[in-house]
Amino acid sequence: MTVRDLRSTFSDEVMACAELEQDPLFHKIPKSKIPYYVSASLAKGREAAAPYMGKNIRELCQAEGVRYEITNRSGTFHNVSFRAQIDFTKNPPEIIIFSASLAGMGPAYREVTGAEEEGTELDRLIDIHLAHEFYHYLEYKSGKFTNEELEPIEVFRLGTFFVKRSTVVKTSEIAAHAFCKEILGLPCLPNVLDYVYLIRSNQLSQKQFEQQVISWKSWM
Ligand SMILES: [Zn+2]
Repeated sequence: MTVRDLRSTFSDEVMACAELEQDPLFHKIPKSKIPYYVSASLAKGREAAAPYMGKNIRELCQAEGVRYEITNRSGTFHNVSFRAQIDFTKNPPEIIIFSASLAGMGPAYREVTGAEEEGTELDRLIDIHLAHEFYHYLEYKSGKFTNEELEPIEVFRLGTFFVKRSTVVKTSEIAAHAFCKEILGLPCLPNVLDYVYLIRSNQLSQKQFEQQVISWKSWM
């Protein structure tokens, strides 16, 4: 089965589940609440995208005064590698894209988007990461991060009166993916690219991925 045949299974809900599963507190989310976190996060991202539809993300950054730097240096901190980040300690916030980390993603981009033309993949991948970080900028600017706007989950309870709650941080990522998909007109959430890349570079088998999709679907 090719990725293109699989594309019908890449619903936004399924790929949002893929992201949600990576939340550090995922095991604390009641199964019955998963559809809520998925739908509410996707809705936030889509809503935020509405005023910017069809706009060029680099021009948008410029218009908002958001600086961005595309660098070749490695985005590895404490052994975790980042493709992009936004630095809120700068005023205005600054987006950094680690372009070396995107270099191998061209074929995945072409496969997922069906783009025929070669040579522009890196620019489009940069746009995807800019759009994602731009959503975090909008959250920052509004003072409302998606995870803080959605219901918290209970992480610990002692007796009747002491309850510790926490937000689901990955909901902000799901919303950023949805925002990115909308404003760039992508066929699916951009985290599909990561999975296609892993499959094509033999770091994940297609079978494993298909099994994951089945379980993600069952949560919705
Ligand atoms: Zn993010």
